[in-house]
Amino acid sequence: MRIFDPHIHMTSRTTDDYEAMAAAGVRAVVEPAFWLGQPRTSVGSFTDYFDALVGWEPFRAGQFGVRHHATIALNPKEANDPRCRPVLDVLPRYLEKDGVVAVGEIGYDSMTPEEDEVFAAQLALAVAHDLPALVHTPHRDKVRGVERSLSVVAESGIEPGRVVLDHLNEVTVKLVRDTGCWLGFSIYPDTKMSPPRMVELLRTYGTERMLVNSAADWGRSDPLLTRATGEAMLLAGFSDDDVDRVLWRNPTEFYGQSGRLDLADDEATEPTFAGNSILRGGS
Ligand SMILES: [Zn+2]
Repeated sequence: MRIFDPHIHMTSRTTDDYEAMAAAGVRAVVEPAFWLGQPRTSVGSFTDYFDALVGWEPFRAGQFGVRHHATIALNPKEANDPRCRPVLDVLPRYLEKDGVVAVGEIGYDSMTPEEDEVFAAQLALAVAHDLPALVHTPHRDKVRGVERSLSVVAESGIEPGRVVLDHLNEVTVKLVRDTGCWLGFSIYPDTKMSPPRMVELLRTYGTERMLVNSAADWGRSDPLLTRATGEAMLLAGFSDDDVDRVLWRNPTEFYGQSGRLDLADDEATEPTFAGNSILRGGS
């Protein structure tokens, strides 16, 4: 089973995790820039973090044979802090870097007017830099958060096929399914999605444009839940090809739209992979 985790915060994980992930079949990851918990008080804290996401972390991942890519943005929560707003001015520099495959995580936390502005500004950056966008949907007031996110996405003019709405569940999946956007699901040990719940969603809605991630970070989370979801799919009667589509080809296709995915070796070693010309455009 080859696995591409399209949303995981490796900065907050140990090398033991990399080792276990590699053994479980995780060959590639995307690490979105996010809120670190401790408030950041200056732009310098962000640039050091972004530099780590495009420099140190890919190096660390590489030691375990894992391809590491990043998405860069001012996260929704810190969009509300006036000390962090100037981060928007340094983003264009990062959005040109090789390992950066999308603008993200953007979207809503508490749905404030500040978040509205920063969300729209960053979708415009995605369009200007010809990158996909990773939209985090809020954990509270989820339905309204998803509805509002979809209208901001529509207003921005970005092509829906270049947007993923993440952290969806049984309720919000219905709002996104027919919009042309991609659907992201974060599998957690005890809250949000579990592998059996994810399998039910795949049964109901099919495998097209569906992305499964662990969203593992500093909190209670598990970077091997992508693998557990693949196993649960097989037990439920999905084929190896279905699993490969959800856990490898879908994230590859979505982030491949950046032209910057670097998976050359993995493509060559996987005879069942049908190939995707998008991937060969970049790097
Ligand atoms: Zn995240």
